[in-house]
Amino acid sequence: MSSSAHKPLVFIISAPSGSGKSTLVKELLKLVPNLDFSISYTTRAPRGSEQNGKQYYFVSRSEFDKMVRENEFLEHAEVFGNCYGTARRFLREAEKNGHDLLLDIDVQGAEQILRKLPGAVSIFILPPDRKTLEERLRKRSEDREEVIQRRLITASREIQNYRRYNYILVNDRLPESIEMLRAIVCFERKARSGEPLTGECAKTAAIADRCRLANVGDRLKPILASFESPVESGAG
Ligand code: ADP
Ligand code: 5GP
Repeated sequence: MSSSAHKPLVFIISAPSGSGKSTLVKELLKLVPNLDFSISYTTRAPRGSEQNGKQYYFVSRSEFDKMVRENEFLEHAEVFGNCYGTARRFLREAEKNGHDLLLDIDVQGAEQILRKLPGAVSIFILPPDRKTLEERLRKRSEDREEVIQRRLITASREIQNYRRYNYILVNDRLPESIEMLRAIVCFERKARSGEPLTGECAKTAAIADRCRLANVGDRLKPILASFESPVESGAG
């Protein structure tokens, strides 16, 4: 080893919109110390109570393009007609502070990060089924009906990519989902440290293990099937 500098463990979280990713990330950040959230840059307009520099940095297309030209992004992609990017500086800052880094990015971004940082840990969040996803999108009441329908169609497509991720987390009951996400992060940190897994850690490891892609198997079948069946509108 030439250097003892901390190499941040990078966690990638992807999910179809409305699965509960923001909710889970917010709770995770409260529970886990030394985990930074990478605030993405986007050309989309702020929604609801979103504030610049909190959920996102909201920039113009020309500002975004300038950042691309100046190689400031670790990855960037177009999602729902808007540009999104992860700034390299978050990784540098995490490294400097001895922290790990959490990225909330789409499947295209995840692919780019995994090419550059093969040690990144990827987590895909799924809703329990299509109907629940539709209910959550409505409950959030941020989108017009046509946008909700578009998000559901996109979700069916995005979900097909689940196999590219290390862990699959089905966000059914919130407290359990938070616990599973926490367990994945804690287990991966412990595994990297090389320390033995004893007591509480062994329990945490068992929870994380159940979410591994290789272990979710049949539990995913009904979820995937619910997104394949002909679209039934739950509106009204
Ligand atoms: P995303 O960030 O994936 O688009 P949100 O975190 O905004 O999704 O969640 C969408 C809606 O679903 C919100 O109203 C949120 O409170 C709700 N929600 C999230 N997780 C759960 C859950 N496990 N059970 C019930 N409702 C949930
Ligand atoms: P929203 O606009 O609903 O917040 O996010 C739309 C999608 O963009 C989500 O799937 C979210 O994960 C993704 N996203 C947010 N930030 C980034 C980013 O920096 N890079 C990429 N590739 N996707 C992002």
